[in-house]
Amino acid sequence: MRVTADKKVDILDKNNAPAFYCKDGDTVVFETSDCFDSTIHYDGSVHQDKPFMHNPATGPVYIEGAEAGDILCVEIVKIKTNDYGIVGTAFGSGGFAHVDKKFSAGVFDIKDGYCHFHGRKLELNPMIGVIGVAPEGEGVLTVSAGSHGGNMDCTQVKEGAKLYFPVAVPGALFATGDLHIVMGDGEVVGYGVEAGGEVTAKFTVIKGEKIENPIIHVDNKVMVVASAENLDKAADLAVRDMHKLLMKGGWSDEEAGMLMSLKCDLVICQIVNPVKTVRAVINADLMKK
Ligand code: CA
Ligand code: CA
Repeated sequence: MRVTADKKVDILDKNNAPAFYCKDGDTVVFETSDCFDSTIHYDGSVHQDKPFMHNPATGPVYIEGAEAGDILCVEIVKIKTNDYGIVGTAFGSGGFAHVDKKFSAGVFDIKDGYCHFHGRKLELNPMIGVIGVAPEGEGVLTVSAGSHGGNMDCTQVKEGAKLYFPVAVPGALFATGDLHIVMGDGEVVGYGVEAGGEVTAKFTVIKGEKIENPIIHVDNKVMVVASAENLDKAADLAVRDMHKLLMKGGWSDEEAGMLMSLKCDLVICQIVNPVKTVRAVINADLMKK
């Protein structure tokens, strides 16, 4: 099953019409545009004379059987990207508020397993910027994030990761896009190596359990991802959710608190979107007492 990149949204919203229907257990390939909606070409020229979307996500896909209150597990089976990517500069905002507002873009080749950046070879860490379901209330633009996921820009959303989202509406209305071929935690200048490509995702609906924010299982780690209006609030939310998760695993509130202070890392995902995103990360073998 394949969803083409022309089936896209710039808002995750319960009122979006499904682009595609699939079943619990299905694997779906999403073709995705880059965050510029493919308006910047390989030669660096900008073609924004026609309407385009900011940070589009392919979808939404309606997963049959998913109901409000369930959890949607999304396994990232494969991420395939173009053999070049575009990095922009969001000067004048986010981490670069100290610099005058200016946008420029550079195009970089991906060859021999590296990103070729001005004579340096940068290691690749392909990841998904936007991934999520429709939120319960008002729709949220795909440039932003929340408890439904969205533009979390978390480097751990990579091949092999399993993501868990709280389902708020029938069918979940899942969408994804905004692939990055290389990106550091924080995404400080507002862009990774932005690229179009394909995401292969497998869906599983989980009944009878509830979560409040996205959870990721990858590389024998468990992480909760929280977004809020500033980093302090996002960090507090991530700590709260991890604390709850550990207590579900049988640790008392004191034990879980101590364990988190010793073995849980708080990591900044991004500081450049309308809300900021933090993850709390712990080894999977510590989840249960
Ligand atoms: Ca992004
Ligand atoms: Ca991006």
